Amino acid sequence: MRSEFIREHQLDAMRIAGQKVGAGRDRVIEVFNPYTSERIGTVPKATLEEVRGAFATAHAYKPTLTRYERAAILNKAAALIRERLGDISQLITAESGLCLKDSLYEAGRVSDVLLFGATEALKDDGQIFSCDLTPHGKKRRVYTQRSPLLGVISAITPFNHPMNQVAHKVVPSIATNNRMVLKPSEKVPFSAIYFADLLYEAGLPPEMLSVVTGDPREIADELITNEHVDLVTFTGGVSIGKYIASKAGYRRVVLELGGNDPIIVMEDADLDEASSLAVQGSYKNSGQRCTAIKRMLVHEAVAQRFTDLVVDKTRAWKFGDPQDKSSDMGTVIDEEAAKLFESRVNEAVSQGAKLLAGNQRSGALYSPTVLASVRPETTLVREETFGPVSPIITFRNIDEAIAISNGTAYGLSSAVCTNRLDYITRFVADLHVGSVNVREVPGYRLELTPFGGIKDSGLGYKEGVQEAMKSFTNLKTYSLPWQ
Ligand code: NAD
Repeated sequence: MRSEFIREHQLDAMRIAGQKVGAGRDRVIEVFNPYTSERIGTVPKATLEEVRGAFATAHAYKPTLTRYERAAILNKAAALIRERLGDISQLITAESGLCLKDSLYEAGRVSDVLLFGATEALKDDGQIFSCDLTPHGKKRRVYTQRSPLLGVISAITPFNHPMNQVAHKVVPSIATNNRMVLKPSEKVPFSAIYFADLLYEAGLPPEMLSVVTGDPREIADELITNEHVDLVTFTGGVSIGKYIASKAGYRRVVLELGGNDPIIVMEDADLDEASSLAVQGSYKNSGQRCTAIKRMLVHEAVAQRFTDLVVDKTRAWKFGDPQDKSSDMGTVIDEEAAKLFESRVNEAVSQGAKLLAGNQRSGALYSPTVLASVRPETTLVREETFGPVSPIITFRNIDEAIAISNGTAYGLSSAVCTNRLDYITRFVADLHVGSVNVREVPGYRLELTPFGGIKDSGLGYKEGVQEAMKSFTNLKTYSLPWQ
């Protein structure tokens, strides 16, 4: 059924300035449904000439949309998303294996990104500075204004949120009148191509957005170093992010990389709430969120009760056929990923960890998994394990909790479960992360609010519609004589 949808919408072609390019050629990337293993379609492998052509066309075009027109396009696209939630969630589920509950939620988030982009496009964020502020001041005023970049934005996205990651690049680009060439993950290209069509349908001048697909070994360097690229915005793993940073040279780079987020449960926490947050934060989106809970840190005084609750709630987490509307979790992205989680859990168990639930695998289906007595130095804990696996680690006091939390190379987000203000202020001050969510999952955010990590999780630049719009613009000041 999905392969028919893909053919009918011609999602097997790139979109270069709105033109459908490359369908039916021999050099393709095959895309498989991770649950059924069915080949649902192919996308072309772009040639270097095609990628260069996409940048040249984008560069030659100068967007002239008014703020009103940009907002109207984004609002229209949001309305189209809401009309087609069923199709969109089915498409995301077919190519990623995420369950329908997750893909419907994702489609709703995409609509939010568009709505926030529309409202932000209407705002003038200029500032005014009076200049008579000091003894050597003058009767002048300095004004600021933001303009689109002179060159083109190159965007590269990961597989884990096939449409929402794309929306977080494309929408701020449109809201600021930029031109973008996007390369989605080769594992989930169809949601990105569908999203581009929806924006064209909503009235976007096609030159403002191209989608190229292909083998990163052939085209990635061009996406980073093409002469027309002013800014590379990348979301994905640390190793590729650092490669991009080293390759990009004298151009702006925004990197949103991996995470290893903790939930920290203090001795005063409401354990029912904390354990619910722990399982939701670990298993939603099949554990494949950069902000998924990867470590559960719990005070030793409440560790046993918390662990029992987490195990019960993990066993009740329904995983299986992603198309089944009652599933809480579908597959992970592919069998290779599921095998990696299985082998890391087996390694941790061989080093003394206790398996409390899960570690069952069938193809790309991997069960929610809980372990206790896990040593912090095991690969499972130290590295980002991008799946539904939750090691529980106990601590004796807040100093130890903070030390364990800060003890990996990552610094994306965190959750803390406590009502004590002294604990909360200490966590906000001392956790080396981009966000601290009190009594919420680490992934909680509005699509509008600033979001992003430090250390290996990112260079500290933020995403979220408002911050992305800032990073996609040049700030100019001008000053005038004033009375
Ligand atoms: P990945 O790093 O393997 O791939 C990301 C993208 O990079 C893909 O489009 C891929 O084709 C492309 N790519 C591959 N080689 C490249 C190269 N040499 N140069 C440039 N691009 C290249 O990531 P993934 O497996 O698709 O996604 C999972 C990772 O993304 C996890 O580490 C996750 O934490 C991270 N992530 C981070 C955030 C965040 O906001 N911080 C959000 C979502 C996912």
